[in-house]
Amino acid sequence: MAYYHIWTIGCQMNQADSEQLAADLERLGYQPTQEIDNADLIVVNSCMVRQSAENRVLGKLDSLKELKRLSPDTVVALAGCMVDSDTDRLRRRFPHVDLFLKPGQFNELLDLAKTRASEVSNSFALAPLSPTAFVTIIEGCDNFCSYCIVPYRRGREKSRSIGEVRRQVESLTERGVKEITLLGQNVDSYGHDLPNKPGLADLLQELNSVAGLARIRFLTSHPKDMSHKLIQAVASLEKVCEHISLPVQAGDDRILEAMGRGYTVQFYRALVERIRLAIPNVALATDVIVGFPGETQEQFRQTIDLLSDLKFDTVHVAAYSPRPGTTAARRFKDDIPLSEKRRRLQEVEELQGNIASEINALLLGHDVEVLVEGKKKGKWYGRTRTDKLVFFQDNADCLGQLVNIEVKKTSPWALQGSPKRSVSKV
Ligand code: SAM
Ligand code: SF4
Repeated sequence: MAYYHIWTIGCQMNQADSEQLAADLERLGYQPTQEIDNADLIVVNSCMVRQSAENRVLGKLDSLKELKRLSPDTVVALAGCMVDSDTDRLRRRFPHVDLFLKPGQFNELLDLAKTRASEVSNSFALAPLSPTAFVTIIEGCDNFCSYCIVPYRRGREKSRSIGEVRRQVESLTERGVKEITLLGQNVDSYGHDLPNKPGLADLLQELNSVAGLARIRFLTSHPKDMSHKLIQAVASLEKVCEHISLPVQAGDDRILEAMGRGYTVQFYRALVERIRLAIPNVALATDVIVGFPGETQEQFRQTIDLLSDLKFDTVHVAAYSPRPGTTAARRFKDDIPLSEKRRRLQEVEELQGNIASEINALLLGHDVEVLVEGKKKGKWYGRTRTDKLVFFQDNADCLGQLVNIEVKKTSPWALQGSPKRSVSKV
Protein backbone atom coordinates (compact mmCIF):
# COMPACT_ATOMS: atom_id res chain seq x y z
CA MET A 1 0.00 0.00 0.00
CA ALA A 2 1.29 3.49 -0.88
CA TYR A 3 0.50 6.54 1.25
CA TYR A 4 0.26 10.29 0.63
CA HIS A 5 0.25 13.29 2.97
CA ILE A 6 -0.88 16.75 1.85
CA TRP A 7 -0.16 19.81 4.03
CA THR A 8 -2.23 22.83 2.95
CA ILE A 9 -2.19 26.48 3.92
CA GLY A 10 -3.92 29.54 2.44
CA CYS A 11 -7.14 30.32 0.64
CA GLN A 12 -10.07 28.06 -0.23
CA MET A 13 -8.68 27.67 -3.77
CA ASN A 14 -5.64 25.93 -2.27
CA GLN A 15 -7.92 23.70 -0.21
CA ALA A 16 -9.92 22.87 -3.35
CA ASP A 17 -6.69 22.04 -5.23
CA SER A 18 -5.60 19.75 -2.39
CA GLU A 19 -8.99 17.99 -2.31
CA GLN A 20 -8.77 17.39 -6.07
CA LEU A 21 -5.21 16.06 -5.77
CA ALA A 22 -6.26 13.73 -2.92
CA ALA A 23 -9.10 12.32 -5.05
CA ASP A 24 -6.72 11.79 -8.01
CA LEU A 25 -4.14 10.03 -5.81
CA GLU A 26 -6.81 7.81 -4.27
CA ARG A 27 -7.94 6.85 -7.76
CA LEU A 28 -4.36 5.64 -8.30
CA GLY A 29 -4.60 3.44 -5.20
CA TYR A 30 -2.88 5.76 -2.70
CA GLN A 31 -4.22 6.14 0.84
CA PRO A 32 -4.07 9.28 2.98
CA THR A 33 -1.94 9.26 6.14
CA GLN A 34 -1.63 11.75 8.98
CA GLU A 35 1.74 10.26 9.90
CA ILE A 36 4.10 12.10 7.65
CA ASP A 37 6.97 9.63 8.33
CA ASN A 38 4.88 6.86 6.72
CA ALA A 39 4.07 8.78 3.54
CA ASP A 40 5.51 7.85 0.16
CA LEU A 41 4.42 11.19 -1.29
CA ILE A 42 4.45 14.46 0.66
CA VAL A 43 2.92 17.59 -0.83
CA VAL A 44 3.30 21.05 0.72
CA ASN A 45 0.58 23.19 -0.88
CA SER A 46 1.91 26.67 -0.19
CA CYS A 47 0.64 30.24 0.13
CA MET A 48 2.58 33.51 0.07
CA VAL A 49 -0.22 36.06 0.23
CA ARG A 50 1.40 37.40 3.42
CA GLN A 51 4.87 36.99 4.96
CA SER A 52 3.33 35.10 7.92
CA ALA A 53 1.97 32.37 5.61
CA GLU A 54 5.28 32.20 3.74
CA ASN A 55 7.14 31.76 7.05
CA ARG A 56 4.96 28.82 8.01
CA VAL A 57 5.65 27.15 4.66
CA LEU A 58 9.39 27.70 5.10
CA GLY A 59 9.17 26.13 8.57
CA LYS A 60 7.33 23.11 7.16
CA LEU A 61 9.88 22.66 4.37
CA ASP A 62 12.69 22.92 6.88
CA SER A 63 11.14 20.18 9.02
CA LEU A 64 11.16 17.84 6.00
CA LYS A 65 14.94 18.02 5.47
CA GLU A 66 15.75 15.35 8.05
CA LEU A 67 12.92 13.11 6.88
CA LYS A 68 14.21 13.27 3.29
CA ARG A 69 17.77 12.52 4.48
CA LEU A 70 16.63 9.42 6.36
CA SER A 71 14.19 8.33 3.69
CA PRO A 72 15.48 9.52 0.29
CA ASP A 73 12.83 7.55 -1.67
CA THR A 74 10.00 9.64 -0.22
CA VAL A 75 8.84 12.11 -2.87
CA VAL A 76 8.59 15.68 -1.54
CA ALA A 77 6.68 18.19 -3.68
CA LEU A 78 6.23 21.93 -3.18
CA ALA A 79 3.02 23.16 -4.80
CA GLY A 80 0.97 26.38 -4.81
CA CYS A 81 1.75 30.07 -4.91
CA MET A 82 5.39 29.82 -3.74
CA VAL A 83 6.22 28.11 -7.03
CA ASP A 84 7.07 30.51 -9.84
CA SER A 85 8.74 29.87 -13.22
CA ASP A 86 12.27 30.09 -11.81
CA THR A 87 12.57 26.40 -10.86
CA ASP A 88 16.38 26.57 -10.89
CA ARG A 89 16.29 29.10 -8.07
CA LEU A 90 13.77 26.96 -6.16
CA ARG A 91 15.93 23.86 -6.63
CA ARG A 92 18.96 25.68 -5.22
CA ARG A 93 16.96 26.99 -2.29
CA PHE A 94 15.21 23.70 -1.44
CA PRO A 95 17.52 20.87 -2.59
CA HIS A 96 15.53 18.28 -0.61
CA VAL A 97 12.38 18.98 -2.66
CA ASP A 98 11.90 16.73 -5.71
CA LEU A 99 9.07 18.49 -7.55
CA PHE A 100 7.91 22.08 -7.92
CA LEU A 101 4.28 22.38 -9.06
CA LYS A 102 2.55 25.65 -9.96
CA PRO A 103 -0.90 26.23 -8.36
CA GLY A 104 -3.32 23.45 -9.31
CA GLN A 105 -0.86 21.87 -11.79
CA PHE A 106 -0.29 18.39 -10.41
CA ASN A 107 0.29 16.36 -13.62
CA GLU A 108 4.01 15.82 -13.06
CA LEU A 109 3.30 14.46 -9.58
CA LEU A 110 0.43 12.27 -10.78
CA ASP A 111 2.61 10.82 -13.58
CA LEU A 112 5.27 9.95 -11.04
CA ALA A 113 2.67 8.58 -8.62
CA LYS A 114 1.37 6.29 -11.38
CA THR A 115 4.79 4.73 -11.93
CA ARG A 116 5.18 4.13 -8.18
CA ALA A 117 1.65 3.02 -7.28
CA SER A 118 1.71 -0.55 -6.02
CA GLU A 119 -1.85 -1.31 -7.05
CA VAL A 120 -3.48 1.02 -9.52
CA SER A 121 -7.14 0.29 -9.07
CA ASN A 122 -9.46 -0.02 -12.06
CA SER A 123 -12.57 -0.66 -9.99
CA PHE A 124 -11.95 2.14 -7.57
CA ALA A 125 -14.88 2.70 -5.20
CA LEU A 126 -14.92 6.36 -4.27
CA ALA A 127 -15.45 6.91 -0.56
CA PRO A 128 -18.36 9.13 0.54
CA LEU A 129 -17.31 12.75 0.87
CA SER A 130 -17.97 15.40 3.47
CA PRO A 131 -21.41 17.07 3.03
CA THR A 132 -19.69 20.25 1.79
CA ALA A 133 -17.23 20.68 -1.08
CA PHE A 134 -15.38 23.41 -2.95
CA VAL A 135 -15.66 23.65 -6.73
CA THR A 136 -13.29 25.98 -8.57
CA ILE A 137 -15.12 27.71 -11.43
CA ILE A 138 -12.57 30.36 -12.44
CA GLU A 139 -8.79 30.21 -12.02
CA GLY A 140 -6.45 33.18 -11.74
CA CYS A 141 -7.12 36.88 -11.47
CA ASP A 142 -6.89 39.83 -13.92
CA ASN A 143 -7.20 42.58 -11.33
CA PHE A 144 -3.65 43.19 -10.11
CA CYS A 145 -4.58 44.99 -6.89
CA SER A 146 -1.30 46.74 -6.05
CA TYR A 147 -0.60 44.71 -2.87
CA CYS A 148 -1.51 41.25 -4.14
CA ILE A 149 0.73 38.48 -5.44
CA VAL A 150 -2.08 36.18 -6.61
CA PRO A 151 -2.20 37.27 -10.30
CA TYR A 152 1.59 36.73 -10.57
CA ARG A 153 1.35 33.18 -9.23
CA ARG A 154 -2.06 31.95 -10.38
CA GLY A 155 -2.04 33.63 -13.80
CA ARG A 156 -4.89 35.20 -15.77
CA GLU A 157 -8.60 34.40 -15.38
CA LYS A 158 -9.76 31.17 -16.97
CA SER A 159 -13.35 29.97 -16.52
CA ARG A 160 -14.56 26.38 -16.70
CA SER A 161 -17.63 25.79 -18.88
CA ILE A 162 -21.09 25.54 -17.29
CA GLY A 163 -21.38 21.93 -18.54
CA GLU A 164 -18.07 20.89 -16.98
CA VAL A 165 -18.96 22.50 -13.63
CA ARG A 166 -22.42 20.88 -13.67
CA ARG A 167 -20.92 17.43 -14.30
CA GLN A 168 -18.52 17.86 -11.37
CA VAL A 169 -21.33 19.02 -9.07
CA GLU A 170 -23.51 16.05 -10.11
CA SER A 171 -20.71 13.62 -9.40
CA LEU A 172 -20.13 15.24 -5.98
CA THR A 173 -23.81 14.99 -5.05
CA GLU A 174 -23.76 11.31 -6.06
CA ARG A 175 -21.04 10.88 -3.42
CA GLY A 176 -23.06 12.56 -0.68
CA VAL A 177 -22.19 16.25 -1.05
CA LYS A 178 -25.13 18.53 -0.12
CA GLU A 179 -23.53 21.94 -0.31
CA ILE A 180 -21.03 23.35 -2.77
CA THR A 181 -19.03 26.56 -2.66
CA LEU A 182 -18.10 27.88 -6.09
CA LEU A 183 -14.61 29.36 -5.96
CA GLY A 184 -12.69 32.04 -7.78
CA GLN A 185 -10.37 34.84 -6.71
CA ASN A 186 -12.89 37.03 -8.47
CA VAL A 187 -15.91 34.79 -8.89
CA ASP A 188 -18.17 37.56 -10.21
CA SER A 189 -16.19 37.81 -13.43
CA TYR A 190 -16.95 34.14 -14.19
CA GLY A 191 -17.61 33.44 -17.86
CA HIS A 192 -16.30 36.58 -19.56
CA ASP A 193 -13.70 34.44 -21.37
CA LEU A 194 -16.16 31.72 -22.49
CA PRO A 195 -18.16 31.56 -25.76
CA ASN A 196 -21.47 33.48 -25.37
CA LYS A 197 -20.09 34.99 -22.14
CA PRO A 198 -22.37 33.38 -19.54
CA GLY A 199 -22.25 34.99 -16.08
CA LEU A 200 -22.19 33.65 -12.54
CA ALA A 201 -25.98 34.20 -12.36
CA ASP A 202 -26.43 31.80 -15.33
CA LEU A 203 -24.25 29.19 -13.65
CA LEU A 204 -26.22 29.51 -10.38
CA GLN A 205 -29.47 29.09 -12.33
CA GLU A 206 -28.12 25.92 -13.95
CA LEU A 207 -26.84 24.39 -10.69
CA ASN A 208 -30.03 25.24 -8.82
CA SER A 209 -31.65 22.32 -10.66
CA VAL A 210 -29.09 19.66 -9.65
CA ALA A 211 -31.00 16.92 -7.80
CA GLY A 212 -29.73 16.10 -4.30
CA LEU A 213 -27.94 19.42 -3.94
CA ALA A 214 -29.32 21.51 -1.05
CA ARG A 215 -27.16 24.63 -0.97
CA ILE A 216 -24.92 26.71 -3.22
CA ARG A 217 -22.43 29.36 -2.08
CA PHE A 218 -19.83 31.36 -3.97
CA LEU A 219 -16.56 33.12 -3.03
CA THR A 220 -15.05 35.75 -3.47
CA SER A 221 -16.99 38.64 -5.00
CA HIS A 222 -15.32 41.81 -6.24
CA PRO A 223 -17.42 44.95 -5.56
CA LYS A 224 -16.71 46.40 -9.01
CA ASP A 225 -18.01 43.26 -10.77
CA MET A 226 -21.13 42.40 -8.77
CA SER A 227 -24.01 42.70 -11.24
CA HIS A 228 -27.69 43.42 -10.64
CA LYS A 229 -28.44 40.05 -12.30
CA LEU A 230 -26.26 38.25 -9.75
CA ILE A 231 -27.97 39.97 -6.80
CA GLN A 232 -31.34 38.98 -8.26
CA ALA A 233 -30.15 35.38 -8.70
CA VAL A 234 -29.15 35.17 -5.01
CA ALA A 235 -32.49 36.69 -4.03
CA SER A 236 -34.59 34.33 -6.14
CA LEU A 237 -32.86 30.92 -6.42
CA GLU A 238 -33.85 28.78 -3.43
CA LYS A 239 -30.61 26.78 -3.19
CA VAL A 240 -28.33 29.83 -3.32
CA CYS A 241 -27.48 30.87 0.25
CA GLU A 242 -27.95 34.43 1.53
CA HIS A 243 -24.27 34.87 2.14
CA ILE A 244 -21.92 37.15 0.19
CA SER A 245 -18.22 37.72 0.71
CA LEU A 246 -17.46 41.22 -0.55
CA PRO A 247 -13.95 42.43 0.40
CA VAL A 248 -13.79 46.22 0.81
CA GLN A 249 -10.09 46.31 1.92
CA ALA A 250 -10.17 49.97 3.09
CA GLY A 251 -12.62 52.74 4.03
CA ASP A 252 -10.72 55.63 2.43
CA ASP A 253 -10.80 56.60 -1.25
CA ARG A 254 -7.11 57.56 -1.50
CA ILE A 255 -6.05 54.19 -0.05
CA LEU A 256 -8.52 52.34 -2.29
CA GLU A 257 -7.01 54.12 -5.29
CA ALA A 258 -3.46 53.27 -4.22
CA MET A 259 -4.61 49.66 -3.81
CA GLY A 260 -6.01 49.73 -7.36
CA ARG A 261 -9.38 48.39 -6.26
CA GLY A 262 -11.46 50.20 -8.91
CA TYR A 263 -14.28 51.56 -6.70
CA THR A 264 -14.91 54.29 -4.15
CA VAL A 265 -16.28 54.07 -0.62
CA GLN A 266 -19.53 55.69 -1.80
CA PHE A 267 -19.91 53.07 -4.56
CA TYR A 268 -19.31 50.28 -2.03
CA ARG A 269 -21.82 51.66 0.48
CA ALA A 270 -24.47 51.98 -2.25
CA LEU A 271 -23.79 48.41 -3.39
CA VAL A 272 -24.27 47.06 0.15
CA GLU A 273 -27.54 49.00 0.38
CA ARG A 274 -28.78 47.49 -2.90
CA ILE A 275 -27.80 43.97 -1.79
CA ARG A 276 -29.57 44.37 1.57
CA LEU A 277 -32.68 45.71 -0.09
CA ALA A 278 -32.87 42.81 -2.55
CA ILE A 279 -31.87 40.06 -0.07
CA PRO A 280 -33.28 41.04 3.35
CA ASN A 281 -31.59 38.37 5.53
CA VAL A 282 -28.27 38.45 3.74
CA ALA A 283 -25.08 37.87 5.76
CA LEU A 284 -22.14 39.92 4.52
CA ALA A 285 -18.47 39.17 5.06
CA THR A 286 -15.59 41.46 4.15
CA ASP A 287 -11.78 41.62 4.13
CA VAL A 288 -9.77 44.60 5.38
CA ILE A 289 -6.06 45.40 5.16
CA VAL A 290 -4.68 47.72 7.86
CA GLY A 291 -1.37 49.58 7.70
CA PHE A 292 -1.22 49.93 3.91
CA PRO A 293 1.72 52.24 2.99
CA GLY A 294 0.95 55.83 3.97
CA GLU A 295 -2.32 54.99 5.78
CA THR A 296 -2.81 57.88 8.23
CA GLN A 297 -4.73 57.68 11.52
CA GLU A 298 -7.52 59.62 9.81
CA GLN A 299 -7.67 57.18 6.89
CA PHE A 300 -7.71 54.24 9.30
CA ARG A 301 -10.63 55.97 11.14
CA GLN A 302 -12.54 55.91 7.85
CA THR A 303 -12.20 52.13 7.79
CA ILE A 304 -13.41 51.92 11.39
CA ASP A 305 -16.37 54.18 10.54
CA LEU A 306 -17.28 52.07 7.52
CA LEU A 307 -17.22 48.86 9.57
CA SER A 308 -19.26 50.50 12.37
CA ASP A 309 -21.86 51.75 9.89
CA LEU A 310 -22.24 48.70 7.68
CA LYS A 311 -22.03 46.08 10.46
CA PHE A 312 -20.73 43.01 8.65
CA ASP A 313 -21.37 39.52 9.95
CA THR A 314 -17.68 38.65 9.50
CA VAL A 315 -14.52 40.71 8.93
CA HIS A 316 -11.20 39.11 7.96
CA VAL A 317 -8.50 41.61 8.88
CA ALA A 318 -4.86 41.44 7.84
CA ALA A 319 -1.85 43.67 8.43
CA TYR A 320 -0.29 44.85 5.16
CA SER A 321 2.65 42.68 4.15
CA PRO A 322 4.78 43.78 1.16
CA ARG A 323 4.92 41.00 -1.42
CA PRO A 324 7.91 40.76 -3.78
CA GLY A 325 7.23 41.99 -7.30
CA THR A 326 3.87 43.64 -6.59
CA THR A 327 3.28 47.28 -7.54
CA ALA A 328 2.83 48.35 -3.92
CA ALA A 329 6.10 46.71 -2.85
CA ARG A 330 7.95 48.44 -5.70
CA ARG A 331 6.32 51.87 -5.45
CA PHE A 332 5.46 52.47 -1.80
CA LYS A 333 7.54 52.38 1.35
CA ASP A 334 6.19 49.99 4.00
CA ASP A 335 6.16 52.88 6.46
CA ILE A 336 3.64 51.87 9.14
CA PRO A 337 5.53 50.26 12.04
CA LEU A 338 4.56 46.68 12.88
CA SER A 339 3.43 47.73 16.37
CA GLU A 340 1.01 50.26 14.84
CA LYS A 341 -0.27 47.72 12.29
CA ARG A 342 -0.93 45.33 15.18
CA ARG A 343 -2.74 48.05 17.14
CA ARG A 344 -5.01 48.83 14.17
CA LEU A 345 -5.64 45.13 13.57
CA GLN A 346 -6.65 44.67 17.19
CA GLU A 347 -8.96 47.68 17.07
CA VAL A 348 -10.77 46.22 14.06
CA GLU A 349 -11.01 42.82 15.75
CA GLU A 350 -12.43 44.30 18.95
CA LEU A 351 -14.98 46.38 17.07
CA GLN A 352 -16.01 43.41 14.95
CA GLY A 353 -16.27 41.15 18.03
CA ASN A 354 -18.87 43.55 19.46
CA ILE A 355 -20.76 43.86 16.17
CA ALA A 356 -20.87 40.08 15.57
CA SER A 357 -21.96 39.60 19.15
CA GLU A 358 -24.91 41.99 18.63
CA ILE A 359 -25.89 40.45 15.27
CA ASN A 360 -25.76 36.88 16.59
CA ALA A 361 -27.69 37.76 19.77
CA LEU A 362 -30.66 38.65 17.53
CA LEU A 363 -30.94 34.94 16.74
CA LEU A 364 -31.57 33.90 20.38
CA GLY A 365 -34.77 31.87 20.63
CA HIS A 366 -35.13 31.61 16.83
CA ASP A 367 -34.90 28.49 14.66
CA VAL A 368 -32.06 28.16 12.17
CA GLU A 369 -31.53 25.53 9.47
CA VAL A 370 -28.18 23.78 9.89
CA LEU A 371 -26.42 21.47 7.45
CA VAL A 372 -24.51 19.10 9.72
CA GLU A 373 -20.84 18.76 8.71
CA GLY A 374 -19.39 16.66 11.53
CA LYS A 375 -18.91 16.03 15.25
CA LYS A 376 -16.40 17.64 17.66
CA LYS A 377 -16.06 16.87 21.37
CA GLY A 378 -19.42 15.05 21.45
CA LYS A 379 -21.32 17.85 19.68
CA TRP A 380 -22.60 18.00 16.13
CA TYR A 381 -21.65 21.10 14.20
CA GLY A 382 -22.69 22.69 10.95
CA ARG A 383 -23.54 26.01 9.35
CA THR A 384 -26.66 28.03 8.69
CA ARG A 385 -27.43 29.33 5.20
CA THR A 386 -25.89 32.60 6.42
CA ASP A 387 -22.66 30.74 7.27
CA LYS A 388 -22.99 30.86 11.07
CA LEU A 389 -21.32 27.99 12.91
CA VAL A 390 -23.78 26.10 15.14
CA PHE A 391 -23.18 23.37 17.75
CA PHE A 392 -25.81 21.03 19.21
CA GLN A 393 -26.19 17.63 20.86
CA ASP A 394 -28.23 14.75 19.48
CA ASN A 395 -27.92 10.99 19.82
CA ALA A 396 -29.09 10.37 16.24
CA ASP A 397 -26.69 10.26 13.30
CA CYS A 398 -27.13 13.76 11.91
CA LEU A 399 -24.19 13.89 9.47
CA GLY A 400 -25.23 15.40 6.14
CA GLN A 401 -28.74 16.24 7.36
CA LEU A 402 -30.52 19.56 7.38
CA VAL A 403 -31.64 20.03 10.97
CA ASN A 404 -33.77 22.75 12.55
CA ILE A 405 -32.03 24.14 15.62
CA GLU A 406 -33.47 26.47 18.23
CA VAL A 407 -30.72 28.90 19.23
CA LYS A 408 -30.12 28.87 23.00
CA LYS A 409 -26.78 30.65 23.33
CA THR A 410 -24.77 33.00 21.12
CA SER A 411 -21.25 34.40 20.93
CA PRO A 412 -19.44 36.46 18.27
CA TRP A 413 -18.08 33.26 16.69
CA ALA A 414 -20.72 30.55 17.08
CA LEU A 415 -24.24 29.60 18.17
CA GLN A 416 -25.34 26.76 20.48
CA GLY A 417 -28.80 25.23 20.32
CA SER A 418 -31.00 22.19 20.46
CA PRO A 419 -32.67 20.29 17.62
CA LYS A 420 -36.39 20.80 17.10
CA ARG A 421 -37.03 18.28 14.34
CA SER A 422 -35.25 17.05 11.24
CA VAL A 423 -36.22 19.23 8.30
CA SER A 424 -35.36 16.62 5.72
CA LYS A 425 -32.81 14.03 4.82
CA VAL A 426 -31.79 15.47 1.45
N1 SAM B 1 -9.85 38.23 -4.47
C1 SAM B 1 -10.21 38.63 -3.19
C2 SAM B 1 -10.34 40.14 -3.13
O1 SAM B 1 -10.56 40.78 -4.09
O2 SAM B 1 -10.24 40.67 -2.04
C3 SAM B 1 -9.31 38.12 -2.10
C4 SAM B 1 -8.13 37.27 -2.43
S1 SAM B 1 -6.71 37.57 -1.45
C5 SAM B 1 -5.74 36.23 -1.90
C6 SAM B 1 -7.25 37.23 0.18
C7 SAM B 1 -7.05 38.35 1.15
O3 SAM B 1 -5.70 38.43 1.51
C8 SAM B 1 -7.38 39.73 0.61
O4 SAM B 1 -8.72 40.01 0.74
C9 SAM B 1 -6.53 40.65 1.42
O5 SAM B 1 -7.26 41.17 2.50
C10 SAM B 1 -5.41 39.75 1.90
N2 SAM B 1 -4.14 40.15 1.27
C11 SAM B 1 -3.76 39.99 0.00
N3 SAM B 1 -2.53 40.51 -0.20
C12 SAM B 1 -2.13 41.01 0.99
C13 SAM B 1 -0.97 41.70 1.45
N4 SAM B 1 0.04 41.97 0.62
N5 SAM B 1 -0.90 42.06 2.74
C14 SAM B 1 -1.91 41.80 3.59
N6 SAM B 1 -3.04 41.17 3.22
C15 SAM B 1 -3.16 40.78 1.93
FE1 SF4 C 1 -5.64 39.71 -5.35
FE2 SF4 C 1 -7.16 41.80 -6.07
FE3 SF4 C 1 -7.20 39.55 -7.53
FE4 SF4 C 1 -8.29 39.58 -5.10
S1 SF4 C 1 -8.98 40.76 -6.87
S2 SF4 C 1 -6.93 38.00 -5.94
S3 SF4 C 1 -6.96 40.94 -3.99
S4 SF4 C 1 -5.46 40.92 -7.27
